[in-house]
Amino acid sequence: MAELYFSSASALGKTSYAYVLIDGEYMRGRGITNENRIITEYQGLNKGLSLALDKDMRKLMVFGPRLIIDQLRGNVPVRSHRALPLYNEARALLSIFRKVELSVVSHAMNKAFPLAIESLKEFFEGKSIAKSREIPDRRIEWIKGLKFVADQHIVDLGRESCSCKFFSETNSLDVKRAGMVIRCRHIFTVERFVSK
Ligand SMILES: [Zn+2]
Repeated sequence: MAELYFSSASALGKTSYAYVLIDGEYMRGRGITNENRIITEYQGLNKGLSLALDKDMRKLMVFGPRLIIDQLRGNVPVRSHRALPLYNEARALLSIFRKVELSVVSHAMNKAFPLAIESLKEFFEGKSIAKSREIPDRRIEWIKGLKFVADQHIVDLGRESCSCKFFSETNSLDVKRAGMVIRCRHIFTVERFVSK
């Protein structure tokens, strides 16, 4: 049976979705939105289901976050009016399969979760890289070891951390759970400075 994982992750007002479809080959998709988590999770699910149908899969095991799985099982009502059309779409897509099994999966076991984090990382680091070019070398000072001050913020290259607000806000619980780091403009600036 083919397997579909879907997930979402959020940081600093952005939410990303991701899905992974496994059926011999490994297919994946991801994206970033301004929507809330429930809407974003349905978006990921529906894209994955559509792809599975395009690929002519008729038996599918679906793994996702508890709330969505409970809603699809009919155990929990869909309270959000905006989520309702996406829920209905998911139900319609699911009804086309010959056999579907729905399962709740934890973040740690959800194969789409790291992919959702990758989307956030790519989005925020793209902004960080652009902004890092605005910080001149004279704003960087070496403290000791791998510690620097960049534009008044303390950067530790060893720990890949920074004391700025952007760093603490983008490295949300989700990002930490995935064992990843989203770098701010100060980290990129210092990385470029030491590589010169
Ligand atoms: Zn920073």
